[in-house]
Amino acid sequence: MDNKKISLVNEYDWDVNSKGIKRINDKNFSTVKKALDAKGPGFCLAKWNQVTMHLGTGMTHSCHHPPTHKIPLEELKENPTALHNTKFKKEQRKAMLNGKRPAECEYCWRVEDEAVENNFSDRARKSLEDWALPHIDVIKDMDGSEDVLPTYLEVSFSNVCNLKCTYCGPESSSMWYEDIKQKGPIKLLEGTDNETWSHGWQENLQIFKKREQNPYVDAFWEWWPDLHKSLKVFRITGGEPLLSKDTFKVLEWIIEHPNPELELSINSNLSVPDKVWDRFIDLINRIKDTDNIKNITIYASVEGWGKRAEYARTNLDFNKFTQRYEQLVSMSNMRAIIMATYNIFSVTSFQKLLEWQLGLRQKYNKSGLPPIWETAASVGFKSKHNLHIEKNANWKFGKGDVLIGMDIPYLRDPKFLDARSISHDLVLDYMLPTLDFMADNQVESKYSSKSKGFSEHEIDKLARIVYHRIYFNQNNKTDPTEPDWVNRKDLDVSRAGFYEFVNTSDKRNNTDFLSTFPEMKEFYYECKESVVRLQTGIHGDTSG
Ligand code: SF4
Repeated sequence: MDNKKISLVNEYDWDVNSKGIKRINDKNFSTVKKALDAKGPGFCLAKWNQVTMHLGTGMTHSCHHPPTHKIPLEELKENPTALHNTKFKKEQRKAMLNGKRPAECEYCWRVEDEAVENNFSDRARKSLEDWALPHIDVIKDMDGSEDVLPTYLEVSFSNVCNLKCTYCGPESSSMWYEDIKQKGPIKLLEGTDNETWSHGWQENLQIFKKREQNPYVDAFWEWWPDLHKSLKVFRITGGEPLLSKDTFKVLEWIIEHPNPELELSINSNLSVPDKVWDRFIDLINRIKDTDNIKNITIYASVEGWGKRAEYARTNLDFNKFTQRYEQLVSMSNMRAIIMATYNIFSVTSFQKLLEWQLGLRQKYNKSGLPPIWETAASVGFKSKHNLHIEKNANWKFGKGDVLIGMDIPYLRDPKFLDARSISHDLVLDYMLPTLDFMADNQVESKYSSKSKGFSEHEIDKLARIVYHRIYFNQNNKTDPTEPDWVNRKDLDVSRAGFYEFVNTSDKRNNTDFLSTFPEMKEFYYECKESVVRLQTGIHGDTSG
């Protein structure tokens, strides 16, 4: 189809709300897929509009699914936009414009090739976003060689971090980097054919240190005056962003250079020194009530409760974390989301975390709209000038300018921390009751207790993880209570890895897994048996 002159937006019927905004729903996913396919089966706007830059290691990717690739310094010298527009990425864009599906996007091709009804790939989901779709008609007529400005930027300025979380690694935590430099990488399952280094340790990993001149960060600041104007979504990740002077430079820049379209998000472990924290709060207070920005969200990372959360995040002071989170949610005109990457250490205390969240929602959330709607309709979290939210708020709910929410990503890697390998008993005693707790406290109706409980969207996120664990292998004739692994050996590799990791971790960190998680004692010994099975090679295949 020669679509040079046609508009891929105007060509189709979209489901829009009363403000003309395209709804995020299956009908529009299906429509955007048709529009993209009209250009080619691999055409995806995220390759142009969205980028994640890891400036501490000089890597980039678009979107976040394909593996990262190195930004060549020789490209950067002539062109700071090579942070996003590498020659490699331009080749992928050209392929998309010429009807090909780049191999690096196999995450999406797998979903599309399964062809399950209404199971849309991120190619459709991301391309429908308002930071992407408005650009479709310009992008479809490009040839792929152009330098483009992204509208959605996620950046990590460095790996500097004061925590050493169990599932993190040297690329994202300087504490991990130093730990491995001093004590060596952690080898698991030594002497078996599954011997491996934990935490993706690479001998030749190149990381710029805190005070080292970093050409990638220099290029970022050279490009920033232009880049900043094009952005709709800007998310700062780490390391710990609040330990990077560049994060503060961004906040100060925003005070001087308004962009009322900008949605700013910052990840944090909320564990930085008091002086740094106070400076951060001061800057946020100077931004959030102005039109310098559309809205601001802090994503606070924690995955469990109390000493169990501290075990999973070495150096975390849990009490300080909860105090600071409550400080954030008691401020107005901003959003504070708990980002709980559910892993094996989350299982037995996740409900306590949810109970705390529920109490805070009942105290602080006043919004008339549940979080998913807020996002979908592009309303909310805005300053006093956001008439839409004020209108709703005045109508029934009072000023609804604080929103507490929860994101529950599922940790798959490292595999030995994937909650899918936990025992049947732990599913019954903790996982299912936790899901029940969420469901029992689901927001009830559109006009009553919205935002005071958990949204369907949030419950779905935990349900998906529970489902993965309890979806038993139908062919498993030997032990139907075990997870759906291809065979017993895979399960043994994960559990044995977990056993060896906590033992090594206890020695390095002076911790004690069994006294911190006494309820996981039986599971711990099951994992020990997996080590023996791996060493002897006798697993007992459960694939039927
Ligand atoms: S096709 Fe999928 S993996 Fe590739 S950029 Fe688009 S959303 Fe990301």
